Amino acid sequence: MVDLKSQYQKIKSEVDAAMQEVIDTTAFINGPQVGLFAKELESYLDVKHVIPCANGTDSLQIAMMALGLEPGDEVITPSFTYIATVEVVALLKLNIVFCEVNPDTFCMDANAIEKLITPKTKAIVAVHLYGQTADMESIMAIANKHNLYVIEDNAQAIGGYYTFKDGTRKANGTIGHVGSTSFFPSKNLGCYGDGGALCTNDSVLAEKMKMVANHGQRQKYIHEIVGCNSRLDTLQAAVLRVKLPHLDEYCAARRKAADYYNQAFANHPNIKTPYCPDNIYHVYHQYTLTLNGVDRDQVQNLLKEKGIPSMIYYPIPAHKQKIFEGVKSFDLDTTESLTTQVISLPIHTEMTDEQQKYIVENFINIVNSLK
Ligand SMILES: *Cc1c(COP(=O)(O)O)cnc(C)c1O
Repeated sequence: MVDLKSQYQKIKSEVDAAMQEVIDTTAFINGPQVGLFAKELESYLDVKHVIPCANGTDSLQIAMMALGLEPGDEVITPSFTYIATVEVVALLKLNIVFCEVNPDTFCMDANAIEKLITPKTKAIVAVHLYGQTADMESIMAIANKHNLYVIEDNAQAIGGYYTFKDGTRKANGTIGHVGSTSFFPSKNLGCYGDGGALCTNDSVLAEKMKMVANHGQRQKYIHEIVGCNSRLDTLQAAVLRVKLPHLDEYCAARRKAADYYNQAFANHPNIKTPYCPDNIYHVYHQYTLTLNGVDRDQVQNLLKEKGIPSMIYYPIPAHKQKIFEGVKSFDLDTTESLTTQVISLPIHTEMTDEQQKYIVENFINIVNSLK
């Protein structure tokens, strides 16, 4: 699905030198590279504060803790997402309210949000699924109207951006009150282990998130609030400093690969290519399409025989997971049918035309043979 080796080969000398420098100075925890990376990411995203942390799941947890969400508060999130988004809500004993997604964009359906709002609702978590920004114009309008926080789960869409009707363009993760992200190796900006970050333009919230991520302390050994221990390793920060300047080119490569697929599959009666509105710069963390009229398991098996990997993101929606048994959910028909229709094909920064040609030809043949 990804080719991290070829990507590494192209930046090997820089990465090796950066990692060696950390080892030589033994500044493994909170070395200077961590702060430098945060500054560089702030300027890349055009946001006031970036707070690095240990992984993307932690970043969501830290955001919710710093916003002061308390047990019983309701948080609206899509059910069609990676488990981390909703797991953190449950971990903090907040009440999950699952929201339907739009069948074309796979992201939260803004029209479905308002009817889920109650006096207990405190926040909306918008997930930029597969690299595509959620409908932030509508989500922010609803949040402002009802005085709710918006957290962007930007683990899959760093490098992408969104243009509002008035022409304002904002980087994903800088639109809501807080953006959270992951630097898991296969993410669009991946390090060589675990990593994550938060971003916000709110200085008070930034200070609070720093405290939460650091045992609730501002000053060493003075613990004002309950926090956790969530740091970005210096070694990972060093890798990320090398990779950040390449992020735009990585996103462009993913978009080019997606374009190739889109053109090849256009107008095929059983394949629906991903839809992206004009105001969104989609960064294709995944290339996910929907199949109809063919047996998806069979498609996957036959692809495998040809040496072509494919994945189902995600086969079971969150509200159907055992851990959420008993959580009341409303109409999630689209979410449920998408989980039976989606399939993701390989997409990464190093794809060649020959690889894509091979995948496309085989995929179309397989789909046609199963009709
Ligand atoms: C990867 C991912 C996360 C979690 O990131 P980790 O760094 O693996 O903890 C959260 N949300 C979404 C949507 C993700 O894809």
